[in-house]
Amino acid sequence: MPMSPAFEQRLTAVLPAVVERFGTPFHIYDAAGIGRTCEHFERAFAGIDCREYFAVKALPNPAVLRLLARHGLGFDTSSPAELTLARAAGATGRDMCFTSSNTSAAELAAALDAGAMITVDDEAVLNTLADRLTVPGELAFRVNPGRNLPGEGDHLFGDPEATKFGVPADRLTALCARARDLGVREFGLHMMVASNVLGADPLLFTLDFLLERAGEIEAATGRPVTSLNLGGGIGIPYRPQEQPFDLPAFGAAVRARLAAWGPPDRARPAIRFECGRYITGPHGALVTRVTNRMAKWRTFAGVDAGMVALMRPALYSWAYHHITAPFAEGREREVVDVVGSLPENSDRLGRDRDLPVLAEGDVLVVHDTGAHGHAMGFNYTGRGRPQELMLHPDGSVELIRRAETEQDLFATLEFAPRRLAAPSGQQVPS
Ligand SMILES: *Cc1c(COP(=O)(O)O)cnc(C)c1O
Repeated sequence: MPMSPAFEQRLTAVLPAVVERFGTPFHIYDAAGIGRTCEHFERAFAGIDCREYFAVKALPNPAVLRLLARHGLGFDTSSPAELTLARAAGATGRDMCFTSSNTSAAELAAALDAGAMITVDDEAVLNTLADRLTVPGELAFRVNPGRNLPGEGDHLFGDPEATKFGVPADRLTALCARARDLGVREFGLHMMVASNVLGADPLLFTLDFLLERAGEIEAATGRPVTSLNLGGGIGIPYRPQEQPFDLPAFGAAVRARLAAWGPPDRARPAIRFECGRYITGPHGALVTRVTNRMAKWRTFAGVDAGMVALMRPALYSWAYHHITAPFAEGREREVVDVVGSLPENSDRLGRDRDLPVLAEGDVLVVHDTGAHGHAMGFNYTGRGRPQELMLHPDGSVELIRRAETEQDLFATLEFAPRRLAAPSGQQVPS
């Protein structure tokens, strides 16, 4: 179940005029759909202290971030640039989380300066805070469950003992005790073990695991754990036969677990999420036009977008984005690969797709590009990233990022030249 019928209808109604006015390719985002998902999220967790911090990396466009801020979302950031974007969208202080890895002192300083809730990913980061900056009164720790994690597969965030993320669970309590001695008065815990999951099990494991750690930490340090961040990773159905994640059922399970956690008068930690994909993924589409139909051993529809505009199919062998040809329905069909223009075989948006027989100029819609789409774009072979458009609920369409030009690509070559002189008195081998 890729793009919703409602988005498809809204998009198809305006698409000919939009293609005519703005040209292709472009990513287009459905403001109405994004708003509806924000409301759905809020309803699913009604009755508990819960907030979603949108993972800025998924769709770092200020127009989208402002829309999310209006719906009450906070922002999860992982770099100073993302903090800048979140602040530009109106976020202040604790509206922002800073969840980074291998974090430098300069980046920590930026997060402290913004007032963001910092998630420490390693003991070394706590040392940097203590030795070179300041240790905030409220501090979160990212936990790595190690062998405790049940299950395996694509949808876990890698083998826990092989990833670089998080504080090993068996060292967590000691680290929290040290942090308390350094002035931390309340703790947050963070764990993210799932990526693009359609079932709630990994997230419920995360909640159970963190609730247990919270009890241990409170007993050992005498300080409360006031927030549990269950990470992102809630998936969306990219393939037509897949069913969406059942968020209301998951919300009910979270409520039940929190209620069962000790006596009724015990304070419960706030629940946080930092989903990207779930919030905006289904509400974006990449619109591209056929440049060449090529019949070789396979048949190819060459299009004017490719991995520069949407990296996921090239990066992950299992990634799938549904592709439709809204104005070519009714024609005979054939099986084609949809390819871009890079000198790379992986530059293929879709493989073995059953589509109407396409001709030059036909419009294709690549579904579910609203998260980790444009954001992962790049410039290899000098092809700029495409424009981004916003489809507003009234049917108007706004350009919210222009396409990159050659000047953009060459901008970093224009600067005051600098040259470090060769060391004097040294023989340079020739
Ligand atoms: C990437 C990432 C997210 C967002 O992931 P989604 O799959 O878009 O929900 C959230 N938190 C962290 C730490 C991440 O690395």
